[in-house]
Amino acid sequence: MKTPPVSFPVSRRRFLGSLVIGSGVLLLPRLGRSAEPSAPAKKLGIALAGLGNYSTNQLAPALRQTSHCRLTGVITGDPAKGKKWARNYGFSEKNVFSYETMAQIADNPDIDVVYVVTPNGLHAEHTIAAAKSGKHVICEKPMANTVAECDAMIAACKAAGVRLMIGYRLHYEPHTVELTRLARDKDLGVFMRIDGANGFRMRSPKSASNWRADKKLAGGGPLMDMGVYVIQAACMAKVEAAPSTITARFGPVTRPEVFSEIEESVKWEMQFSDGAKATCLASYAENVSRFRAESENGWAQLGPPAFYYDTPVLTTSRGPVHLPRVNHQAAQLDGMALELLTGQPSLAPGEMGRRDLTIIEAIYSAAKSGQPTPVKA
Ligand code: NAD
Repeated sequence: MKTPPVSFPVSRRRFLGSLVIGSGVLLLPRLGRSAEPSAPAKKLGIALAGLGNYSTNQLAPALRQTSHCRLTGVITGDPAKGKKWARNYGFSEKNVFSYETMAQIADNPDIDVVYVVTPNGLHAEHTIAAAKSGKHVICEKPMANTVAECDAMIAACKAAGVRLMIGYRLHYEPHTVELTRLARDKDLGVFMRIDGANGFRMRSPKSASNWRADKKLAGGGPLMDMGVYVIQAACMAKVEAAPSTITARFGPVTRPEVFSEIEESVKWEMQFSDGAKATCLASYAENVSRFRAESENGWAQLGPPAFYYDTPVLTTSRGPVHLPRVNHQAAQLDGMALELLTGQPSLAPGEMGRRDLTIIEAIYSAAKSGQPTPVKA
């Protein structure tokens, strides 16, 4: 079965043309591109929903560097923490909401976008609540636990007339964008053999502070959390085509005290309709982050590490590729803000997050059955 690519109408030129980071320094001259004549004056107000590790250590600091958006509110279960954030980031305490009062965001003019950064199993509930408040939504990866939840999220955003974007930061990272260009322009030929892996060694079992080992909140194991990056990169190397068929198997459970509900690791192979194959691994048993795509004429490799926050190194069969280093989260947030401000389609729309869940569901199904499994579009 041939699965069509996700609609991906935004050109690399348009994206690179919008890369303005932090101090307002345009990256364009270093990329040899001309700057857009006028950047929008308005800065979009972003409210972070879920003030855990990623919001605290990556997104909020990045929002101090962005040119087209700023932090103007939070949604948190801890009002005292919310007030502290209001003081630290200079927004009004009236912009502190709880998960129960999200509907009231509708009346808050400071907030244009809600960024959902809660555990995976809550993404659907919080995205739908944000959409009902009439605000655009950025939802962290993976988009949700199931394709059915993705459908409900897309429908809610459509009904509310708001955008839904997925926090796929690498779509706004120049080295990864260049990999996508190489694939699209067939600059090194058509990539036919792909190898990717992503993982870290998870030490603690399910607990209040480790929802990643909790099936209900995480949706699954390393495939949901880390494997989605490998799926993303492989689809980029195939010009956003989804694979047609999956074979997969779970790795051994070496620490049953940690992995009572979720897989410890999973290996899978994705077959594309043009005959290309991607061999992939997601793991909570080892620290690994690599990606390589090969054609008849050459190859391209990210990293290692391929998917960390540090700028990945891109090397091709022609040699190293030198591109600007960016703060991934600031680049993503500014890129998405510009998409909203200028009405351009998103590089990482909800439909792309849904596509990845269709692949994830096929991988789990293939690993359980031991049979080649088609990806349902
Ligand atoms: P975290 O555990 O550090 O934070 C989760 C937050 O959600 C906490 O503030 C917690 O209080 C809140 N929360 C609300 N309701 C909750 C409930 N019922 N149970 C547990 N927590 C609840 O997690 P994190 O590492 O910040 O990850 C959050 C999301 O961000 C995940 O979807 C994750 O996949 C994603 N993430 C993305 C990247 C990236 O590079 N794009 C990196 C890290 C995390």
